[in-house]
Amino acid sequence: MPVDATAPYDDTNIFAQILRGELPCKKVYEDEFALAFHDIAPQAPIHILVIPKGRYVGWDDFAAKAGEAEIVGFVRAVGHVAREQGLPTPGYRLLVNVGQHGHQMVPHLHVHLFGGQQFHHMLV
Ligand code: 5GP
Repeated sequence: MPVDATAPYDDTNIFAQILRGELPCKKVYEDEFALAFHDIAPQAPIHILVIPKGRYVGWDDFAAKAGEAEIVGFVRAVGHVAREQGLPTPGYRLLVNVGQHGHQMVPHLHVHLFGGQQFHHMLV
């Protein structure tokens, strides 16, 4: 079931467990604000998830509650990962699913970074 992105943060969610080191991940980048790792079920040749270290369920509470340093740090981390993967040319796709209609399955904000292929139109 997709999550309710307005629900309180659930510390048992899978990405919280990855952040605490209780579950493994294939890490590609980590800094003070963000952790990036390969998606367990990649939907493109490159499919990386970038998550903030803070306890945010979705985009809205991140945008409303995160400090400016956290927001800037997280956005920069996404850009850093894209550059490290060699993606700015030829390009890539970012996606954030939010809540039920967005079909968000994990209740910790994550940006999907897709690359390594030509995308044609929006995913629906
Ligand atoms: P959502 O639908 O919430 O936007 O995307 C959740 C993503 O997390 C999916 O692409 C799914 O494959 C990925 N995922 C779920 N569980 C795990 C896990 O335990 N490890 C990793 N690396 N990815 C996961």
